[in-house]
Amino acid sequence: MKKSVLKKYAKLIVRVGGNVQKGQDVELLIGVEQELLATYIVEECYKVGARKVNVRWQSDKTAKVAYKKATVKALSTMENYEIERQRYLSEKLPVMIYIESSDPDAMKGVNQAKIAKVSQNVYPIIKPFRKMRENKYQWIIAGAASPEWAKKVFPDLPKKKAVEALWDAIIKTSRCDNDDPIKAWKEHNDDLKKRTTKLNSLNLDYLHYTSKNGTDFKVWLLPNVNWLAGGEEALGSNIFYNPNIPSEEAFTSPCKGKAEGIVYSTKPLSYMGELIEDFSVRFENGKAVEVKAKKGEELLKQMIKMDENACYLGECALVPFDSPINNTGILFFNTLYDENAACHLALGRGFTNLVKDYHKYTEEELIKMGINDSQIHVDFMIGSKDLSIVGYTRDGKKVQIFKDGNWAF
Ligand code: ZN
Repeated sequence: MKKSVLKKYAKLIVRVGGNVQKGQDVELLIGVEQELLATYIVEECYKVGARKVNVRWQSDKTAKVAYKKATVKALSTMENYEIERQRYLSEKLPVMIYIESSDPDAMKGVNQAKIAKVSQNVYPIIKPFRKMRENKYQWIIAGAASPEWAKKVFPDLPKKKAVEALWDAIIKTSRCDNDDPIKAWKEHNDDLKKRTTKLNSLNLDYLHYTSKNGTDFKVWLLPNVNWLAGGEEALGSNIFYNPNIPSEEAFTSPCKGKAEGIVYSTKPLSYMGELIEDFSVRFENGKAVEVKAKKGEELLKQMIKMDENACYLGECALVPFDSPINNTGILFFNTLYDENAACHLALGRGFTNLVKDYHKYTEEELIKMGINDSQIHVDFMIGSKDLSIVGYTRDGKKVQIFKDGNWAF
């Protein structure tokens, strides 16, 4: 990737994504192969006045060795310095910048049950810290092309060409392939805002999804929960930031325990470093009661049993079939991109900050209202070319929301 484009991308991530402010701390999590992008991001953070930028280097390869060789007990132990880091994150509220470049198959060959066990053990330890900082800090997830990921997306291209092609796709779908990406994002945010304003004005009771692939599914919504798209504000500081680059979705958290019917996946799902493909999920009383998959069925079954609420929904997101990401025709094998290419649902944790005046309630009260709480939040794609979504309003009107895979209004 050209250095000038990479710099522009770093600027977009820092100024629009995290919207880093003068005096703030930043924590950057990034793959070891992305040193140049990391340098530009760090530089840009200091340019806007960051106090301190901490970089945490990530490596799939060393993580894989650790999962193979270390004991569950060792992997599940949070050392004191890690606890202190959690405390720092919750008290200082640094802006979190996550750059994803992982190989979608990174953990292939590792015992999935072991990975799940470790995350089940660690979660209760970090949960109180996470609850402390929830909704209060700015964060951003963006992508970067690594050779392993690029080869998965473009298996027929030589490594170097594959990396170039993936970078091109990342830059394009991130609306960074123009003279002024910051302005392009302002326009994009304004457009998304129009969609959510309309959705919020409808006062929807439930949505009915149907598609020729067999999807026939109803999901109920909560009266005091908003639809959101693009950016949001951190609680307390009111700093507007864009947590995902790219982002094309309008999403809400549905009512826990109220969903019926079956949905069929329209894209593979990369979960814990492995792929789940051609699957269906059947819901009864809001609960995923039956899952089937041509590939990765065991992993999918394990996923919905991660904790007692992993089988309930946390998100409904609307993305037009004609989204810029879907139009690239590329399957990214990465949720950040693939979720923004198609309508999706997420199993697991919902978004408490979508509740109107959520800051007036405790976390427990928000969960009681019907927002799901779980250690997982896994998006899976169900958008298809002929998907129809009909909304039923609380005053008994029927409104076409999606027609032939795209917005009906
Ligand atoms: Zn989503």
